[in-house]
Amino acid sequence: MAKTIAAVATGNIAAGISVIRISGERAIEIAEKVFSAFDCTPLSSLKGYTAKYGCVSTGGESFDNAVALVFRAPKSYTGEDVVEISVHGGIFIVEKTLQAVFDAGASPAEAGEFTKRAFLNGKIDLTQAESVAEMISAQGQEALRASYSMLQGSLSSKISAVLDSLIDCSASMAAWVDYPDEEIPELSEENLTATLENAKADLQQLIDSYENGIIMTQGVDTAIVGKPNAGKSTLMNMLAGQEKSIVTHIEGTTRDIVENTVRLGSLVLHLSDTAGIRESDDLVEAIGIKRAEEKLKNAQLVLAVFDSSSPLSREDEMLIEQCSGKRCIAVINKTDLETESDIEMIKNRFETVVEISAKNGEGADKLEAAIKNVLGVKQLDTAQPLLANQRQRQCVSNALDRINEALDGVNLGITRDAVNVMIDSAVDELLALTGKKATEEVVNNIFSRFCVGK
Ligand code: GDP
Repeated sequence: MAKTIAAVATGNIAAGISVIRISGERAIEIAEKVFSAFDCTPLSSLKGYTAKYGCVSTGGESFDNAVALVFRAPKSYTGEDVVEISVHGGIFIVEKTLQAVFDAGASPAEAGEFTKRAFLNGKIDLTQAESVAEMISAQGQEALRASYSMLQGSLSSKISAVLDSLIDCSASMAAWVDYPDEEIPELSEENLTATLENAKADLQQLIDSYENGIIMTQGVDTAIVGKPNAGKSTLMNMLAGQEKSIVTHIEGTTRDIVENTVRLGSLVLHLSDTAGIRESDDLVEAIGIKRAEEKLKNAQLVLAVFDSSSPLSREDEMLIEQCSGKRCIAVINKTDLETESDIEMIKNRFETVVEISAKNGEGADKLEAAIKNVLGVKQLDTAQPLLANQRQRQCVSNALDRINEALDGVNLGITRDAVNVMIDSAVDELLALTGKKATEEVVNNIFSRFCVGK
């Protein structure tokens, strides 16, 4: 019999209410030793989805009012009997309740163990389990939408459809090869090729949307660069809505890199406000400038800031050179002041130019639209099936390789047996993705990244 486990499902901070979750065959019996309903109904007499108001106690002394919610297997998160006890969310109360639950016979849950049990009991597949972790760490609307869509099974359904078509194809080929005396019709080459081409297109589409999906959900590494005093820190503050970089009139104050994660509409940007790029004799500033150049090189997106109120300088020219070949937006700042800069020249050198006044907080909408355009994520619907991580991408990519081999094999006229081996390998890769054939090591690795109580 698997151990009955317990953990705090809510965070380890003082809160209005905290929930202690117990799961396993003995969940109800253990909860009854800690919780008593005020109307004296034993929890063991309750149907699933029933709550009772009462109190929690230990050593014969009650110490808080509480609500116990009973779920009956298999209709619970884990697929086992579950009791959730809600107590007032004081850290001491929660610890005391959890200890009482352990004293009554429960074992401490490991990281991700509730979700792992849900997976092992067939309540969710591996992609849905991963989506739980993604939802918990979602920092913005698109990340939440994508992970919720995966939790609802959008990726699983897409993969299942591909799997069904491949398995059908493989089964009819195997039957034809294995039972030559039966009158099983041979799968025509057109049908076989069409099935493989369809599977290839579906998987290729998942791979193609991976990079943009990650950008939309996990955020974009964005470097803010520009000459000293162009308004980089002010732009960062405008986006962050708070004073993080120090804004001053003295050139060269942002000596090193200040990082901040901000939401711009539906996008998440991991911003680095860098030292102004210029030639400098100051050793410390020179190190900052070197790091700024590194950031510029490695960032997924560059916001090159120009001061519209001062003429273009040598530093601006240097920056324009450094931005070539990067995904970059020229941000012409200080539009509230008289124009002294050669805006036309900047417009000629950059594909995307946005004019803003960072100080007055004007232009954030235009900047968001421009960023989406430059990243090519404007059309991406995060509610559609998307791959969420490198593991999933690798499984799909391996399956695609096997399907391409099978297609080449069909074209070269190799035996159906050999084609079938390749299709079976593609099937195995997709079953590893959904978890039906994932190794124990992969499964343990995924759940070890969860927190305790999830
Ligand atoms: P950085 O060196 O590029 O980080 O520039 P800062 O953000 O420190 O800004 C330099 C100066 O320009 C500060 O005095 C800011 O208040 C000012 N500044 C920044 N953006 C604007 C703007 O849009 N309009 C005006 N008028 N001043 C700005």
